[in-house]
Amino acid sequence: MTGDLSRTAAEELDGHDELARFRARFVVADPDLIYLDGNSLGRLPAATPAFLDHVVREGWGRGLIRSWGDWIDWAARLGDRLADHVLGARPGEVVLSDSTSVNLYKLAAAALAASDRGVVVVDTDDFPTDRYVVQGLVEHHGGTVRELRSDIDRGLSPDRLRAALDEDVALVVLSAVSYRSGAMPDMAEVNRMAHEVGALVLWDLCHAAGAVPVELAATGADLAVGCTYKYLNGGPGSPAFLYVRKGLQPLLRQPIQGWFGQRDQFAMGPDYDPVEHLDRFLVGTPPLLSLAAVDPALAVVEEAGVERIRAKSVRMGRFVVDLARERLAERGFRLASPVDPDRRGAHVSLAHPDAWRICRALAEDAGVVCDYRAPDRLRIGPSPLYTTFTELWDAVDRLCGVLDSRSYERHARALARIT
Ligand SMILES: *Cc1c(COP(=O)(O)O)cnc(C)c1O
Repeated sequence: MTGDLSRTAAEELDGHDELARFRARFVVADPDLIYLDGNSLGRLPAATPAFLDHVVREGWGRGLIRSWGDWIDWAARLGDRLADHVLGARPGEVVLSDSTSVNLYKLAAAALAASDRGVVVVDTDDFPTDRYVVQGLVEHHGGTVRELRSDIDRGLSPDRLRAALDEDVALVVLSAVSYRSGAMPDMAEVNRMAHEVGALVLWDLCHAAGAVPVELAATGADLAVGCTYKYLNGGPGSPAFLYVRKGLQPLLRQPIQGWFGQRDQFAMGPDYDPVEHLDRFLVGTPPLLSLAAVDPALAVVEEAGVERIRAKSVRMGRFVVDLARERLAERGFRLASPVDPDRRGAHVSLAHPDAWRICRALAEDAGVVCDYRAPDRLRIGPSPLYTTFTELWDAVDRLCGVLDSRSYERHARALARIT
């Protein structure tokens, strides 16, 4: 049932929004700009500049090398906070390090090396880096990629996955939320199916962390990676996280034998001898300033709580889907995400043959930033901590204006370097 879809209704939803006060915790430099790309780069938390200034001036400027005595634990401390508030993992199972792509390589290589099997199952519609990393891994170290064909709008079907699983499979690599459609497989079911044939699962949580409640321990997850710059608002290129289930940690060896994984790191011993615990998945010196920015960002997520974030996100998703049905379908748009909110993450994809030019017109002429994804998708990514229902209503209204005036036809068809 579709409810009232007027602008007044949107304002009422904002009036009842228990997360409304969190918008003030972010820098909103241009109140007229509607930012619906928090799924690619979250907004700047208001507390971040002062905190970074403090770390730079006091930690670096005054403390100099002495500050490493404190800084050395930050990756683990932030990892434990993520584990507790965002990922449903135990202390000592999550740490921040490197990028998602590099962590994916480290964990996939470790899983493959520890197995006497050679098949890695990958979704053909997964985020490119996941597919490329796995392709390169098997090219260099042997093994084969087995491709899963998931529906690009509705996501992975459990039957397809079941059909791809057998006793040759070492590892399954999947995203918890599809970057394009937002489709969400059932993590517990996938883990169970993989475990039945003796395979491990490596989850990419980039579009899930901070947007949907993730329960790594309760769903029996083995391995996971994800970034902190999307719904976690850690800033451009902030360090990623990695998760390895406790019992697996001593059994897996990652391929990059850096000194941060070493037992008695400062003994500077002759040969690599990694610690038994999670630090063995670290490589080298963390990018401290980028790591620091995760701290105030995570504090906002912790205070709001992922359950409340998800509850608002589901309401926002439904609002966008209903508005799209009422106003955009007749203008040539089609929903390209699962209809069921339980199977959809925080963003909604809408397909239109001219999506790229429409996306440009929205950004350049109408003050609405969302993004385009191949082949013809407009991704609407509200972030419950700072997006309002009124903004969603206005964004759809401005989109109708762009379509009705055909102003998008003035924009180039050629894709830009970054979409
Ligand atoms: C954003 C994203 C990444 C990004 O990886 P980087 O190494 O940070 O560039 C990886 N996987 C998924 C699913 C993503 O959405």
